Amino acid sequence: EQAESKLDDAVVELSNVEFGYTASPVVEDISLRIDSGEYVAVVGPNGSGKSTLMKLMLGLLRPDEGTAAIFGEPSHVFDDGARIGYVAQHASASKEMPITVREVVRMGRFPHVGFGRLSAEDNRIVDDALETVGMTAFANRRVTKLSGGQRQRAFIARALASEADLLVLDEPTVGVDAESVEAFYDLLASLNESGITILLIEHDLSAVTEHADRVVCLNREIYFDGPTEEFVESDALARAFGTAATFVGTKR
Ligand code: ADP
Repeated sequence: EQAESKLDDAVVELSNVEFGYTASPVVEDISLRIDSGEYVAVVGPNGSGKSTLMKLMLGLLRPDEGTAAIFGEPSHVFDDGARIGYVAQHASASKEMPITVREVVRMGRFPHVGFGRLSAEDNRIVDDALETVGMTAFANRRVTKLSGGQRQRAFIARALASEADLLVLDEPTVGVDAESVEAFYDLLASLNESGITILLIEHDLSAVTEHADRVVCLNREIYFDGPTEEFVESDALARAFGTAATFVGTKR
C-alpha cells in the first residue's frame, strides 16, 4: 500500500473531460492533475466553468466524456468526504443556524465518530483546530455573530477537525473585510506548508498571483496551466478574459 501511494500522489486527475448541462458543453477537453501538497488556483471570467470544473473534480457532476478521479478513485464513487474540506463563499448570516463556532468545528469529527459521542481525543483535535485558525477566543460565539473573516476561519477549522487533506475554497474572501483577507491567506499558506493541498477558485486575480503556486486559467477550455510566474508573463489572461487585465504582485 505504501508503494502504491508513492507511485500515485494525484489528489485530482481529470482526463479529457467534457461536460454540458444541456447539449452544448460548458467545459471541454480538460486534462489536469493536481498532486498532493500543491496550491492551485483556478481563474476565469464569470460563467467560464470554474464551479462546474470543481463539481466534476469532487464527483458532484459526472463527465459526459473523459474521466474524473479524486484520491485515486473515480470521483462519483469516492465517499471519504472527511478528506475534503469545502469552504464556500460566505453566505448572509441570517440564513444560518444559530450554532456556535465550537459546534461547527465539532461537526468535523462526525465522519470519524458517526453519531457517537466525541472522545477526549476528538475534543483535543477540535481545540487544536480552533487554535490553528486563531478562533479559540470565539469558540462559544454564535456563527451568526462573526465577521466574514472569522466565519471562514471557523469553516477551515471544521475541515482541520475532519483531518481533510484537500481544502477546496470557492471565492472564500468575498464579503471579507480587507484587513482580514491578508490574514486569511496567511492561514492558507501555513496550512499548505503543513502539507494540505489547496484548490482555490478565485476571481480576484491579485489574490491568486500573490498566493497560489500554480494557476489554471479557464474559459470553457484550459488557456493556461502552469507556475504562477509564467502565468503572469503569459498572454493567457487576455486571451481567456478577452481584455487586458493586469496583476498587482506575485508570491515570490
Ligand atoms: P463560473 O463558476 O466560472 O462562473 P459556472 O461553472 O458556474 O461558471 O458556469 C458555466 C456555464 O454553465 C455558464 O454558462 C452557466 O450559465 C452554466 N450553468 C451553470 N450551472 C448550471 C446549471 N445548473 N444548469 C444549467 N446551466 C448551468
